[in-house]
Amino acid sequence: MEKRFVYADNAATTPVSKAVLDEMMPYFTEKFGNASSIYALGRNAQRDLEDARERVAKTIGASASEIYFTSGGSESDNWAIRSVCERLAAKGKKHIITSVFEHHAVLHVCQALEKQGFEVTYLPVYENGLVKAEDVEKAIREDTALVTIMYANNEIGTVQPIAEIGKICREKKVLFHTDAVQAVGHVEIDVNEQNIDMLSVSGHKINAQKGVGALYVRKGIALTNLIYGGAQERNKRAGTENLPAIMGFAKAMEIACTDIEKRAEKTAKQRDRLISEILKISHTRLNGDPVKRLPGTVNISIEGIEGESLLLMLDMNGICASSGSACTSGSLDPSHVLLALGLKHEVAHGSLRLSISDDTTDEDIDYIIEVVPQVVNRLREMSPLWEKIVNGEKI
Ligand SMILES: *Cc1c(COP(=O)(O)O)cnc(C)c1O
Repeated sequence: MEKRFVYADNAATTPVSKAVLDEMMPYFTEKFGNASSIYALGRNAQRDLEDARERVAKTIGASASEIYFTSGGSESDNWAIRSVCERLAAKGKKHIITSVFEHHAVLHVCQALEKQGFEVTYLPVYENGLVKAEDVEKAIREDTALVTIMYANNEIGTVQPIAEIGKICREKKVLFHTDAVQAVGHVEIDVNEQNIDMLSVSGHKINAQKGVGALYVRKGIALTNLIYGGAQERNKRAGTENLPAIMGFAKAMEIACTDIEKRAEKTAKQRDRLISEILKISHTRLNGDPVKRLPGTVNISIEGIEGESLLLMLDMNGICASSGSACTSGSLDPSHVLLALGLKHEVAHGSLRLSISDDTTDEDIDYIIEVVPQVVNRLREMSPLWEKIVNGEKI
């Protein structure tokens, strides 16, 4: 097959779509007003900003007054967790419940809070890559300030029982935050039906630009000040609003949350073909539940190879993929997510994440399916580790 360029790393980032770019463009030039200005140019910017807030709110069943624009997923996670913990610590609540395989934007905040005297329960994920709602229930204590469990995992794509966890938290009167950066636009989200109190989303995972996102905060939950200064974002996050980014983000949320089921069906078919074909390679395993997963995310461990070498060889063949999260590649530590599933270090090292999108064609899938086994064979031929595995030696 002829060499082609296939972008299969949509969980790391996505391109800005034409529709989103078109939405943004006027706000760089003729609609450049500052939303705080008094004249019509500024008032129009203010109106469009509030309109964008309303549009974003609608996509997750929230109201506009519950949406705060941020610089993305990391900021939203930090802000949500630190706000709640700071406020509730004053009432003697210094316990947080999370899971071992959260994004670092959650884990590292929890670790920082531990240094400030918080106690954190890191719930296990089982071999299928899922958190158990009953584990959440058992972990809740008198002094629990917050439960924060991601909606869908960024490395393996498993979708957590969020509605169940939400129900438990509501019954136990504990606040519930979820990092929905990977989930939004791929699964139906309704913050009221699912009893979600706070939710983080990011633009660049759904075809908006990098550096924009939102935090949903249920009415009645107070946020702490993130940036002092002007009165933007209800006095909580000062700084002139990034209107082009926000308008593009609102458009991206609308598009991503339209026809989810139909789009997921097409993508899941392609995903399942990737899974079944790549699993034909010997000594491979799918990471995470085969069904309770995002339509576009595949993570497979391939024994006897190094993930980094695999990625470089795939790149030479025009395929962009990942072996863990983009944040940890570059470091040689195996992914904390794969280790949490109980994988051995050497198996976790040889993992391949492919994340496809609406733009992925069947020909792209054909190409990946052809190239991956060839590249794996080449790498295994050169691998002393693989020799040991086929000889049945203990490694
Ligand atoms: C990408 C990602 C983030 C970080 O979002 P940014 O907008 O890049 O800060 C947080 N959580 C998850 C699950 C992600 O996939």
